[in-house]
Amino acid sequence: MNRLFANLPTTIFEVMSSLARETGAINLGQGFPDDPGPEDVRRAAADAVLNGYNQYPSMMGIPELRSAIAAHYKHWQGVDLDANTEVMVTSGATEALAGAILGIVEPGDEVVLFEPMYDAYLPLVRLAGGVPKFVTLQPPHFRLTEEALAQAFSPKTKAVVFNNPLNPTATTFSDEDLNLLADFCRRFDAIAISDEVWEHVVFDGRQHRPILALDGLRERSVKIGSAGKIFSLTGWKVGFVCAAPPIMKVLAKSHQFLTFTTAPNLQHAVAYGLAKDDAYFEDMRKNFARSRDRFTDGLRTLGFDVIPSQGTYFVNIDIAPLGETDDVAFCRRLVMEHGVAAIPVSAFYAEGAVKNVVRFCFAKKDSTLDAGLERLAKAIKRAA
Ligand code: PMP
Ligand code: GLN
Repeated sequence: MNRLFANLPTTIFEVMSSLARETGAINLGQGFPDDPGPEDVRRAAADAVLNGYNQYPSMMGIPELRSAIAAHYKHWQGVDLDANTEVMVTSGATEALAGAILGIVEPGDEVVLFEPMYDAYLPLVRLAGGVPKFVTLQPPHFRLTEEALAQAFSPKTKAVVFNNPLNPTATTFSDEDLNLLADFCRRFDAIAISDEVWEHVVFDGRQHRPILALDGLRERSVKIGSAGKIFSLTGWKVGFVCAAPPIMKVLAKSHQFLTFTTAPNLQHAVAYGLAKDDAYFEDMRKNFARSRDRFTDGLRTLGFDVIPSQGTYFVNIDIAPLGETDDVAFCRRLVMEHGVAAIPVSAFYAEGAVKNVVRFCFAKKDSTLDAGLERLAKAIKRAA
């Protein structure tokens, strides 16, 4: 067997969700909303499966969706994309990431990764034969520094895999940080594989800035999005890739042998959804921000040390003030003894450099959040 996969642990999301199912715990671990997603978008998918064409769609994605993606990003992020040559539909951001990493990285190439990193990145880089170079971001601000980038980049750097807004930290990078990264990508002739799946889930008036809009990065970026996050339909696995034509030509080749295409009815429904009026997207943010505030206030009242959430479905706590030094043991106790599943953030570091941060998903009904807080109250009493 391939040792890379044979030696990989099961992803922490699956581990915690299985424990939650077995124990009947409230699942605030894996990131998925309680909300069923917009009914009109789901109806559009149902209608397309009943009345539409259900054979293989074209490899790059149906034209309606590719145009809708280009129009959506023009409207929301001010970027000009050619729907015919610069946009491709994939089966989720996960496929987009795999296709980009396998399509760009060759054995021996160095790839800069920012820890904490989404758990798919490192195995995919290794699969491609890439050599990971880590930049470790430190709580509570998780900022980039010139020194850290200077240590990670070298003439062998082929690509960086960057995630903004950042899962699991729920932070967004400042313009200053983004410009610093762009500067290093230009200087070292590196491609920025930019995972922007959380681009719409940002709070407090923040505006998402796509990597390919940065000075000099248009020709050296791969922008990755996901309808799952935009419409709270995480099971749909409809992803988007945007890149300049010379990069896209190669990414299309890796896509053709990963999945080739994506369910046509879901593509039609996502095309419909991306054209929804601004109010839908603004309300979505407002509703998530309200849940964030309810849960954050609850955690603070209980005495937890909360790291503020600027975007994503997540909020983190620092468990060091509770005298806890092992986030995995803490999360195991939380789920087994107190009935709440959470995610230990050390799972997002290659060598567990940070072990005092725990992630909760707040994209839940008020009653679920309140029940979770009630159980956490018992957990903090035990810890105190
Ligand atoms: N990247 C990040 C940062 C994510 O948080 C997720 C899913 N939560 C993905 C990629 C995967 O997205 P998809 O479900 O569209 O494959
Ligand atoms: N991205 C989701 C999260 O961060 C989980 C995705 C998965 O389960 N693979 O919780």
